[in-house]
Amino acid sequence: MSAMVEINADLCKGCGICVSVCPSRVLALGQVVNSQGYATAVPVLPMACTGCRYCAVMCPDVAIRVMLT
Ligand code: SF4
Ligand code: SF4
Repeated sequence: MSAMVEINADLCKGCGICVSVCPSRVLALGQVVNSQGYATAVPVLPMACTGCRYCAVMCPDVAIRVMLT
């Protein structure tokens, strides 16, 4: 089984919590700026996602969806 993480850039405030809690270093900040001017989190190593959902649980803005495929 593999997993796919998706960030809703319009909801993301760029707080970085998801980046710091991901044990697989899938996420990073600073490459995409959303319509509100926040540098949003993006999956930079999407293939490394294990589907643990730590990021989705910790995101204060409910901007992350993790799908098991
Ligand atoms: S589901 Fe787990 S491994 Fe995947 S991006 Fe989120 S914290 Fe990282
Ligand atoms: S925790 Fe949520 S709001 Fe914060 S950077 Fe990650 S996706 Fe964006």
